[in-house]
Formats: sequence, structure tokens, C-alpha cells
Amino acid sequence: MSTFLGMPVAYAPRGVGHLRGDEPFPAAARTALADPQLRRNLQHATATIRGKSGRVIAELPDWQDLRTAGSALKAYTMANLPRLLEQFEAKVTEAGGVVHWAADAAEANRIVTDLVRATGERRVIKVKSMATQEIGLNEALEGAGITPVETDLAELIVQLGRDKPSHILVPAIHRNRSEIREIFLRAMPGVDPALTDDPPVLAAAARRYLRETFLTTKVAVSGANFGIAETGTLTVVESEGNGRMCLTLPDTLITVMGIEKIVPTWQDLEVFLQLLPRASTGERMNPYTSMWHGVTPGDGPQNFHLVLLDNGRSAVLADEVGRSALHCIRCSACLNVCPVYERTGGHAYGSVYPGPIGAVLSPQLTGVEDNASLPYASSLCGACFDACPVKIDIPSILVHLRNRVPHPAAEKAVMAAAAYTMDRPRLYARAQRAAKFTKLVGKRGRGLPPPLNGWSAARDLPAPPDESFRDWWRGR
Ligand code: SF4
Repeated sequence: MSTFLGMPVAYAPRGVGHLRGDEPFPAAARTALADPQLRRNLQHATATIRGKSGRVIAELPDWQDLRTAGSALKAYTMANLPRLLEQFEAKVTEAGGVVHWAADAAEANRIVTDLVRATGERRVIKVKSMATQEIGLNEALEGAGITPVETDLAELIVQLGRDKPSHILVPAIHRNRSEIREIFLRAMPGVDPALTDDPPVLAAAARRYLRETFLTTKVAVSGANFGIAETGTLTVVESEGNGRMCLTLPDTLITVMGIEKIVPTWQDLEVFLQLLPRASTGERMNPYTSMWHGVTPGDGPQNFHLVLLDNGRSAVLADEVGRSALHCIRCSACLNVCPVYERTGGHAYGSVYPGPIGAVLSPQLTGVEDNASLPYASSLCGACFDACPVKIDIPSILVHLRNRVPHPAAEKAVMAAAAYTMDRPRLYARAQRAAKFTKLVGKRGRGLPPPLNGWSAARDLPAPPDESFRDWWRGR
């Protein structure tokens, strides 16, 4: 087993991409919690997806076996990633694709921008892609005078609203239909001024605008849900058909794929194609599953470039406990069951990866110091672990990361004193007796004095019992 990829283990760089927020989670969450409309939108949307997903999962008697298979396949992939990536590269090249390796967001943006420039085009159409959001590709393209047009309906709403996505699967989950109507009226070229907020009317307006764009744009940028090492096949799953248009109509296709998206063999894909739609959109199968294999003369894009993105993934892979965050298939089930996400929404996490998976993935990609509050953005209730189709033990990774977060000096001193005391039975017994008499920690409902008062700001200190276990034991 090896985790060496031949690339330097480095975190995602600062100043590029969207993995770091402007403020820590508690401050951003406070702003989100003060918005009742946001909470209503989130509650409605997550409850609807949860219900739908739960019903179709219950139809499968072997769901737990599928989860186990998905988890095992991902563990195998991570243990053999260097070999599988090289096999994948060889197969894509053999099929007429050009493979580029990007160590980080800045390099990936540079590669894609140069490739688009080389075509002479000034506009690209985009398939929804977490990887390109992660690296801030739209901003990089705009900086080079190239206009990116998002073609997924929710992504389009976010882009036209100059907004940020707040959910992996439903990026505009924080918007209701009247807000979407206002965004379309304000920013969609050629929109009918009599537009209503009826969902079919809004969808028809987006379709009209996008059809014209699909037929006149020669370059597309996509992400990939899976890359099959055995065959060099790329896969994108989606619900609207916009991805199929982007992947087939343009002359040039550029795909940005995280290195963890590898699946070893064609047959392994059957596991993930059953897990993903049921856990994410609550569908029995994806409405559109597009697969392509290099370049086919006379059919589809005639130039295909694949950018394999690291951007901190090697650093995640090097952590024995944290690496299973790379198993994620971006279904968003953990977001939809998380009580914290349901109340704060995605913006509070500051990263394109919100919710429980964001709380463990973002700090590992950036280095835990740059996202130190995220491992605490959880009640550790375990709902995310139960919901995850590839069985990622998110609560354990959260606890692991909490141990790696730099702690304040006062907290470190208290913990060191506690460890010293607990290591010495006599001292511990004396401390227990003393606790009964101290006024500082003796009364339920009282807080701790500074600098420890932050701990008790939202908790009651438990009152020490009249009799400790040791005293009770001794009495018998
Ligand atoms: S961590 Fe699991 S549940 Fe959450 S998005 Fe990833 S695969 Fe889905």
C-alpha cells in the first residue's frame, strides 16, 4: 500500500478558490440564523429531499450491502491511487484525450484559461462542477476576458444573482421562487418582463436562454463524477440534460476532475450508480448519465482535455483517519440530515463544501489552521454517518480534527492540568472532594470565571454529586 503520488504534499493555496470563508463559522452562523426566510427555505427543501430519498432507499433490500461495497471500493482506490491514476492517464491518452496534472487551484485555472484562449473563443458553457467552484475557475476565466455561463438551473440562479452556492446538489437551496423571479428579471438577457414565479414558467425562461447559448458556444468545461481507470471513461450524472448538451455540442471539452474521483473498473461503477441517485436526489437512477471516452472522429467534441486536480488532496490522503473524506461521492445526503446545516445553510461554512462533509474536507484541504472552527460545526449526533452511502465516519474525523486544531493557551493549560490530575488517583480523589466545596464549580447554572467563561456561555456546569463513586464504593 502506498499513498505517494509523486506530487508534493501541499495544502490548497490561499488567495485562490473558495475553500476559506471571510469569518469563522460561529460568526457566519449567527448571521444566517437571524434570517427567518432562509431557515424556512432550508427546512422545506431539506425535509422534501430527505423524505424522497428515504422512500427510494427503503425499496432496496441490499442497501446496506451496497454501502459496504461502495466503502470498500473507495478504500481500495485510495490505497492504490498512484497506480490507478497512471492507468487512467494512459487510457485517456490512448483514446485521444490530453491529460494535464494540476498541483493546485492556481495551476488548474492557468491550464484551463490557456486552453480556452488557444481556441480563440471568449465564452464557455459549464456543467455543474464542485471542482471548478473549489478552484474559483469562473473568476479566473472572467479575469482573462472569458465569459463562463453556468447551465445547471440552480447554478445559473446563483451566477445571475452574483451569489454563492449553499448546497452541493441544490446550490440555490436558500432561494425561493419569488427571489428567483427577481433575479431572472434583473439579470437574465432577453427575459420576458411579464415573467411569473410559477416554477414551470421560470424553468422555461432559463431553457430559452440556455438553448441559444448551447448552440452558439464552442467550448465547454465540466467536472466529472467518476473516472474509470480500466477504460479511461469519464462520467457525469445530472438531472436536467444541460450536461449532455455541454458534453456533446461544443468542439472542445475541458474536464477538471479531482484525483480522488477514480473508480478502478467499469463493473465497479454499478455500485456507485445505484448509491448516488437514491442518496442524493431520491431518484432510482440518474435522469442523465453521460459517459465519454477520449475523442470519437465526427461525433462530439473533437478536442478533449482532462485536468487532474490535487489542490490539497494528497495532504488529505496522507492522514490515516482523515483520508476517508476523499471517499465522498458528493451526494449531499449528510447535509440534508444535519441539524446544524438545516439551521445555518451552506454560506456559514465559508467553503464550497458545506455541511458535515465540508466540516471535515475543507480543513484538511486548506490545513486545519485555516478552517479551525469547522470541525466544531457539528453536534456529533451521527446522522451524517448513518446517511452516507459510502459509510464515511464523519463524526470520528471531526473529533480527530478537533484534536489537530490549535487550542487557546488557557484551554491547553486546563487540559494539561486535568490530564495530570486524572493520571494520579490520590490527587484526583482530593480534587473531587475539593470540587464539592468550591463555589466556582459547585452550582448548576453558574458559569466559569474568565478566561474560561466561553465554555460555560452556552452550557450549565453540572453540579458535583453529594457522593462520588469512589466514596460510594468505599462505603461498601
Ligand atoms: S460525505 Fe457521504 S453523505 Fe456526505 S456528500 Fe459525501 S458521500 Fe454524500
